[in-house]
Amino acid sequence: SSSLSSTLQGETALHIACTKGLAPLVKVLLERGANPNAQTAEVPQSTTSALALYTEVDEDGNPKAAPVGKQTPLHLAIIHKYEEIVSLFLEHKAKHTASEDTTVFVPNFNLKDSEGQSVLGLALWNGLHGTAVSLLSAGANINETNVDQMTLLHQALDKQDVVSALFLLDHQADISIPTPEGDAPLQLAIKRHLPVIVEALCASGVNMNIVDKDNNCPLWLALDSGQEDIAHILVKHGCDVDMWGEGPDGCQQNLLHQAIDENNEAVSCFLIRSACDKNSPRRPGPNEEGGEEARDGQTPLHLSCAWGLELVVQCLMEHGADVNIQDAEGNCPLHIAIQNQHAVIISLLLAHPNLNLSLKNKQGLSPFAVAMTTKDNKAAQAILNREPTAAEQTDNKGRNFLHTAIMNGDIESVLFLISVHADVNSRVQDTQQYTPLHLAVLALSEIITRNLILAGADVNERTLHGESALHLSSMNDNPSLVTALLENGVEINAVDENQNNALHIAVAHGNMHTIRCLLTESTIEAEVPNGKGQNPLHILCQYGKDNAAAIFELFREAMPDYPIDAPDMEGNSALLLAYLNGNGPVCRALVRANACLGLTNKHGCSIFNATVASKQLIFKLLDMLSKEPPWCDGENCLECGVKFGIKTRKHHCRHCGRLLCAKCSTHDIPIVKYNLTKPVRVCNICFDVLSLGGNF
Ligand SMILES: [Zn+2]
Ligand SMILES: [Zn+2]
Repeated sequence: SSSLSSTLQGETALHIACTKGLAPLVKVLLERGANPNAQTAEVPQSTTSALALYTEVDEDGNPKAAPVGKQTPLHLAIIHKYEEIVSLFLEHKAKHTASEDTTVFVPNFNLKDSEGQSVLGLALWNGLHGTAVSLLSAGANINETNVDQMTLLHQALDKQDVVSALFLLDHQADISIPTPEGDAPLQLAIKRHLPVIVEALCASGVNMNIVDKDNNCPLWLALDSGQEDIAHILVKHGCDVDMWGEGPDGCQQNLLHQAIDENNEAVSCFLIRSACDKNSPRRPGPNEEGGEEARDGQTPLHLSCAWGLELVVQCLMEHGADVNIQDAEGNCPLHIAIQNQHAVIISLLLAHPNLNLSLKNKQGLSPFAVAMTTKDNKAAQAILNREPTAAEQTDNKGRNFLHTAIMNGDIESVLFLISVHADVNSRVQDTQQYTPLHLAVLALSEIITRNLILAGADVNERTLHGESALHLSSMNDNPSLVTALLENGVEINAVDENQNNALHIAVAHGNMHTIRCLLTESTIEAEVPNGKGQNPLHILCQYGKDNAAAIFELFREAMPDYPIDAPDMEGNSALLLAYLNGNGPVCRALVRANACLGLTNKHGCSIFNATVASKQLIFKLLDMLSKEPPWCDGENCLECGVKFGIKTRKHHCRHCGRLLCAKCSTHDIPIVKYNLTKPVRVCNICFDVLSLGGNF
């Protein structure tokens, strides 16, 4: 009858017998019909002394956990590890399961206490694995859940109880049920750092690529928490080492992109060593999602070069990543490393045997060009050490780096290129074929000019049009450049394709200082005609600018005997050219220098008959005569053109010196300024000038 009564906590005699380990009594109670499935009260009274019987205490004697209710006698026997009593329950069940005796209670091994623990769970947590085997055979549910909806396997993993977890796996516990938090057993095993369990789970064919609510796969969970041992196990069993998934702004990325993005070199290297995809860039999502990252075409190597991840770069190269792959901007990894100034990575890349140094990005820049642009002389030097011709690459205008640097006046880069032995005589590949020295002279840089010469630039190289550096320097009025060239042995009298020497050029451009320098510091031939038969004075008179008269004075000063009346190929004298050009100051200077006035060219044109807008200039020139100019000579009258002979005699106008017939010189008038007080023969125009007395 005692078996039918219970305490306030709902304990039966069987509960008490189980708690105290009274096996013979348990046996008798069961045989006499005690209920093996009787459960204690829902919530036990914490004040009763009986509570102490089944409440665990810690070292300080305090209750460890809230009191547990709804326990069967067997729960209590297992808590107290009375395996002999458990055997009695098992035997009792075996004996009566098939029995038709309804007065006997058959033990139910799946009843749960107030915490949802079944007897199987308690057997496991109390280390009674032999008992657990028996309970399973006797119908205990291996996937039973507790009040927190955690299966026994979840609980074992949560407690890091490896032995129980392995036991459950050995006995085919369900490995796919997730926890209420959403973690599958594999994810839980990783979070609880249980490599042995991970191994067992993988061996039993678990889904290794399941993702958690943050979209992280088991491999990432392991790597991100620093568990390479677990990661190795996953890889060994063939998990997906790429796991393409959603990245920034919905683009598609793999684990390596993610690891590099987080600057995690250890994880990146692990993935690379595990044979992940090394060359793919991120890509747009299924509906074209993703921003810049989805379309920049940057491979893992590009990304690591940008972020300065030296170990990753090294690892990628060791595992065969493509070092020459170009991104959407045409940049190869070396471009990126140089742009981001990662010296170590630059050296790593340059040590790769297959590196292609001639790849150009969309701006047309090779890696060397980027190094020059960013003034990274160290990188540029490193590139040249490997590829000595890198500096000779030309742009779409046929210029190499030295050319460009000179044209930009970039002294620093010029000196660098000289220091690395760039070819100082290389020509621009265009229709001019300028050498670096030509460009330096045109850029008016004396310092670059002198450095190029010191470095071996040939001062006498010509352009395609035959111009030397001296010609080009004469186009500008920078005499120090001329001096630099003269000091370094430039050929003074070299002529271009039009037979102009440097003086012709300097005069044509009106470069006064350069002309003085040439006339005083060199032995340049100042009278030599060019291809049009024009000497420098002809050029001055034909093309002269505002300072032409001053330049003429320079000529007179340096060369008092300069042949000022010499004709050019067309027979033009300097005075006629200046007159036709309307250059009054030069005409006056020539007349003062006693130039011959009446000279005609091959077309019969002189200053007297030239078709000009106004006759003012010739009147003024005649009026300013202060002494008899040189007489002209010839076979025809310079006014009417009649040929002289026996009947037609030669006469000269005593004022202008022209050769005339009698009909064209009918006037006689004294010329006081010449001290000619008696009337003398003059031409018609001179008569007008002399009789008007300057009032014209
Ligand atoms: Zn005449
Ligand atoms: Zn005259």
